[in-house]
Amino acid sequence: MSGFTISSLHEKLQNKEITATKASEDYFSKIKKTDPENKVYLTLNEEEALNQAFLVDEKIKKGEKIERLEGIPSSVKDVLSTKNLRTTAASQALSNFIPPYDATAVKNLRASGAILLGKTNCDEFAMGGSGENSAFGLAPNPLDPERVPGGSSSGSASAIASDLCVFSLGSDTGGSVRLPASFCGIVGMKPTYGRISRYGLIAMASSLDQIGVMAKNVEDVTDVLSAIAGPDPKDSTSSGFTGKDFRRDFDLGGKGLTLAYDKKSIEMSDPQIKKTSLDFLAKWKKEGGRLKELTIPYLGEEAVACYYIITASEVSANMARYDGIRYGKVPKKVLEETHSWHQFISSLRGELLGKEVKRRIIMGTFCLSSGYYDAYYGKAQKVRAYIQKSLDETFKSADLIFTPTSPDLPFKIGERINDPVRMYLADAFTTIANLAGIPAISFPIGETQIEGKTLSIGGQLMAKQWDEETLLRGAKFGEEIIHA
Ligand code: GLN
Repeated sequence: MSGFTISSLHEKLQNKEITATKASEDYFSKIKKTDPENKVYLTLNEEEALNQAFLVDEKIKKGEKIERLEGIPSSVKDVLSTKNLRTTAASQALSNFIPPYDATAVKNLRASGAILLGKTNCDEFAMGGSGENSAFGLAPNPLDPERVPGGSSSGSASAIASDLCVFSLGSDTGGSVRLPASFCGIVGMKPTYGRISRYGLIAMASSLDQIGVMAKNVEDVTDVLSAIAGPDPKDSTSSGFTGKDFRRDFDLGGKGLTLAYDKKSIEMSDPQIKKTSLDFLAKWKKEGGRLKELTIPYLGEEAVACYYIITASEVSANMARYDGIRYGKVPKKVLEETHSWHQFISSLRGELLGKEVKRRIIMGTFCLSSGYYDAYYGKAQKVRAYIQKSLDETFKSADLIFTPTSPDLPFKIGERINDPVRMYLADAFTTIANLAGIPAISFPIGETQIEGKTLSIGGQLMAKQWDEETLLRGAKFGEEIIHA
């Protein structure tokens, strides 16, 4: 992977081999050269970023020590509110929205001294698995421009993989940090539900949404997590645990760590993914880790069905606020042609919301309607509780669970956009972590050559709730054995 990691840039800054201003300026000029149509970044934050960098440089000049994230150029998915900086959720409905406040995670990021270069593209309101649902075009997959970067945090993954920032914050409701990380060959982690405050995160499905971290390696992800995690009075679901030292168990390595794997997830994957996953498990064992085979109930299609019923239901409620009165622009046509409140709202939503968002509003409203509630939403909640319970059981005799991140290699642009069910199945292995609220991470476990291009294959680890230390320890070990 080209360009700086947090550690390599931190060292250069501290040793005065480069200034924070120069590093940021270099990133901006690269962004402007390689992303002139704003497909990766929807909005840049140049003036403020350079001011931030100046302050870091002053500190270094005075001979002061800087913290790990100080002066490091980063980006934030455009579903996180940024004070005075346009936040669109990649939707026409918010194309002119300038939040008056920062999301808590962004506030914490700024407090850590990281430089915010800009806002990255994504699927509209984070709904999607390819990046193609953005109202503002598709960020490329740097490994193969004919393929999707994965979604919904498409711009964040694309930016990191093409070195247009050092790390990024994404959001993960059913896999949106892990899937694009896997498709673009980087690391993406979704922590335990409640670990990072959701205040200021534009809501998709509130009981599943979590902010996640994307970077070039596990160590970088860990450092960013430490900076943004912690309780927040503004989010009643945020945990009371204060930010911890998530690097705590790095030195323990993987010896003795029990990794449980579900054979079905490997069998049903693309043959290259299957082979790479089996090789990974063999290396895990060879290097001193333990293995255990198990069956995760409902993993695959059933978990996807459960996830999409719950998600659509919550989406239909969360989307109600986009009525053109509170936020966003109102097209002239809507103002001129509508004569009642109802007409205004339906015409506005018809004009401004994309196809996938509308599909979920309709699906969710249906699932929640009386007469169908028990058959769909009620049943999905029972399946969710069962998945949670069986994962709790699994973690009594295993430290971690492994699956491929996705059963599929990055698919071609346009291949699935008109077949939503096929698109949803890319999430076959990621949704259970959100349904159970447990932490999960995707990191590269191998590569494969297709049509002259080298694609990356991601492996996923999951740990029990609040056990990010073991998750990150396992991922660090996994990363080491792959590179050994
Ligand atoms: N692909 C999933 C969906 O479309 C995940 C989205 C997400 O995690 N934000 O719902």
